Amino acid sequence: MTRTTGASSNKTSTTTATVTGLMSDIAGTGTDPLRGGYTRPVYSTAELDLRTWFIDQATKRGLSVETDRNGAIWAWWDIPGGNRSNSIVTGSHLDSVPGGGPFDGPLGVAAALAAVDILKARSPIPKRPLAIAVFPEEEGSRFGVACLGSRLLTGAIDPNKARNLRDPDGNTFADIAMANALDPRYIGRDDQLLGQIGAFVELHVEQGRGLIDLDQPVAIASSILGHGRWRLSIHGQGNHAGTTLMADRNDPMVAASRVVVTIRDAARNQPHARATVGRLQPVPSGTNVIASRVDFWLDVRHPEDAITASLVEAIHHEARLIAADEGCTVELTEESLSPTVHFDPGLQKQLQLALPEAPILDTGAGHDAGVLAALVPTAMVFVRNPSGISHSPEEHVVDEDAELGAQALAEALATLMN
Ligand SMILES: [Zn+2]
Repeated sequence: MTRTTGASSNKTSTTTATVTGLMSDIAGTGTDPLRGGYTRPVYSTAELDLRTWFIDQATKRGLSVETDRNGAIWAWWDIPGGNRSNSIVTGSHLDSVPGGGPFDGPLGVAAALAAVDILKARSPIPKRPLAIAVFPEEEGSRFGVACLGSRLLTGAIDPNKARNLRDPDGNTFADIAMANALDPRYIGRDDQLLGQIGAFVELHVEQGRGLIDLDQPVAIASSILGHGRWRLSIHGQGNHAGTTLMADRNDPMVAASRVVVTIRDAARNQPHARATVGRLQPVPSGTNVIASRVDFWLDVRHPEDAITASLVEAIHHEARLIAADEGCTVELTEESLSPTVHFDPGLQKQLQLALPEAPILDTGAGHDAGVLAALVPTAMVFVRNPSGISHSPEEHVVDEDAELGAQALAEALATLMN
């Protein structure tokens, strides 16, 4: 990872920053020479550098910056009198998947900063306060639970479970929180903060092809597909690759491979379902060693939660049969499950009035907005991604669309703040 120190200092609250300019400030942070793209796990040097950059940018705009007890950063544009009830909140995340693209998360943060500039350049003082929120561990790439920050804020995850989550190096979330000045005893649902949020609007790069096909730069979100993550562990017999005859093996790698194909086939047979195994870890992982165990992770998404549940159950059933056939056993553990989210219809209508050209699109990708939607009126704005690819270095947004996105966000926020 590349460490960058400091941030550009040529922006002041009197000028309007471009999203492109803000994104270029952070283009060198967390680049991944091995995978390509960016690797910015929560509380890594790269993600901490991005937080510093954000705090610097927010401070330059006269926003008051606070970190909440779950590690999310809040940059407040207060109204005279300082009352924060019924606030409008925008923002996104700065962490990334391993080898991710530049826009997933940071685009929403940069667009929020640019939108504040656009709104500050207009004369009337807004009637409602605004905050830009930056949520930690949205991707779940380090501790395995996506949207960990917003789940903690809303109480969607038990704080004790969160404290005991481990990263791939064996560190608990509690240890890493402590090392980053966050007292793990106080993580969890924050009703005082939640009570201040009147509405949350997250701008995000689109992670599919919807806007390409519609030939539009910006869309309003309707819903997020239900999705979940499960860990499958297949236990076999670790042994020597040279001395163990083929007939004598209990090889969990072979069982896992067969299960991966079964997962693909099961999802293909279920309309609108998506099932993915993107991560597989043999133990002990030696070239001349038959593995003793293979852990792999299943991601399943479908608009109907009951179908997600039945698909996972069918996969579990097939996995047991395959494991038995290979002389192995299988365990399946749910790591997270998010039901399908339909965004607030009233808020969606207000955004449609502010952005009459924007089509309405659903998405298969999870977001903090989807978690917050359980407790506060929530909406999302998507910006066209001409590659149609995300969670990959090929993810892209053209400069003009990035600025159109910030303008659209500013229009939406202006409507809500007045
Ligand atoms: Zn994202």
